[in-house]
Amino acid sequence: MTSPRIAIIGAGMSGILTAIKLSEAGYDNHVLYEKAARLGGTWRENTYPGIACDVPAHLYTYSFEPNADWSQAFATGAEIQAYFEGVASKYRVPERIRFNEGVDVCEFGDGRWHLRTSTGREDVADVVIAATGVLHNPRVAELPGLASFEGACFHSARWDHSVSLDDKRVGVIGTGSTAIQITSALAGKVANFELFQRTPQWIMPIENPTFSDSDKAGFRRDPSRLAAVKAEADAAFQNFSNAVIDADSNEIHEIEAACMMNLEKNVRDAALREKLRPGYRAGCKRLIFSTNFYEALQRPNTHLVTEGIERIEARGVRTRDGQLHELDVLVMATGFVADSFIRPAIVLGKNGKSLDEAWADRPVAYLSVSVPEFPNFFLLNGPNGPVGNFSLIQIAEHQVAYVLQLLDEIRSGRCRAISASHDATARFEAERVVAARQSIWATGCKSWYLDKDGVPASWPWSRERFFEAMARPALEAFERVP
Ligand code: NAP
Repeated sequence: MTSPRIAIIGAGMSGILTAIKLSEAGYDNHVLYEKAARLGGTWRENTYPGIACDVPAHLYTYSFEPNADWSQAFATGAEIQAYFEGVASKYRVPERIRFNEGVDVCEFGDGRWHLRTSTGREDVADVVIAATGVLHNPRVAELPGLASFEGACFHSARWDHSVSLDDKRVGVIGTGSTAIQITSALAGKVANFELFQRTPQWIMPIENPTFSDSDKAGFRRDPSRLAAVKAEADAAFQNFSNAVIDADSNEIHEIEAACMMNLEKNVRDAALREKLRPGYRAGCKRLIFSTNFYEALQRPNTHLVTEGIERIEARGVRTRDGQLHELDVLVMATGFVADSFIRPAIVLGKNGKSLDEAWADRPVAYLSVSVPEFPNFFLLNGPNGPVGNFSLIQIAEHQVAYVLQLLDEIRSGRCRAISASHDATARFEAERVVAARQSIWATGCKSWYLDKDGVPASWPWSRERFFEAMARPALEAFERVP
């Protein structure tokens, strides 16, 4: 098959990357389906006040498109969105995108994938690459009475910018990365701000220095300076990502001590301090980087509410102590359904087997990329991949390079279809689960990392091991149809 037709689903960070890399490798017959009117994925959808990435900007950058212009160590969402739009345009990716067209059905039959899209279009592809992201289906807390609320209410990933906030009483439910950033941005700047906390968070006070114009000019003049900044961020991240896989590592204890000192030093009121003190290990939930969350919580007209929500009423949130917290705006920073991946699209593999059936227990894929009985179907940032504390761009780049090697098996005519074998997948998954139980994520907290059995759904080994696994596919782990 000299020129397989390839359908990429999703025009976010990994979809754009895939299109660029396919073109580079001479795969010219590819199309991207994007459900929205713009590319950008998570950075298009999340526009809440204070949004930034907690991976250093120079690391959250395609390796082949370094950016001398990042304004600060941790870039804002708008800046990242602009970066993706710029890179996509440079490589003429938008010409290949079918915007406002989601893929509803992918069905494998007669050796090819038959797609049906939200516009009713039917398409046929030899290969499907799901670049649909991890956290894209909002989880809205099913709180009693929610529909009766008379103010504005929206999920953090569906921010309603038509609602002015300055003179409003704003409530935010949740204390994940999103809620912490919203709090830092809004507390003290609206009429009244209430943060509804179910579980306190560990907060690591990592500074976010800005890059001056002369820094940026220096990066442009001398790319080795840019590479050095990236290498420094990379080394720090490598230590961190290796620390979290071992709950007993020195590094994780050091992180905990730094977070504890942050709490002790920066929260003046003893009662507030106790409410903010987590009762689980640092790093068990995704660690939060913030130098100003505690300061924000202590601003005027700002309150931390820990009593627990009983119900939502027309005028606000009623907590279990009977108090009504009157609000004009209620924000659900309650996270995402983390195990849907390409779903709700219907994906039917060999013999009509659906992805829902294959994943009836939980989502599983060989090395996170390939699912048995789903030939020529590949996932980027798929199930149980390294979502923990890595730069997802680095992960996606390695996965795309791996998938390209599998595609070469098809293009070269060595096979027509390829998917991981059941045996290899089962072996990989069994080993992964054992290791995942040793990680910091399994030390007794609730988080979106955990699957329904409480097992962390992430890569539980070192970053080096992931890079090695992605370097060259072990073809004996795959079933190939000649
Ligand atoms: P999240 O980490 O899943 O947090 C959801 C929050 O909502 C939790 O505090 C949870 O409380 C709370 N919650 C859920 N249902 C609730 C209910 N019924 N009543 C009260 N509270 C409820 O979601 P997120 O903050 O959107 O972050 C998700 C992930 O996105 C992050 O971990 C990170 O990977 C990524 N992200 C990154 C950044 C960044 O780069 N800085 C920013 C935003 C998001 P419990 O803890 O008690 O369950």
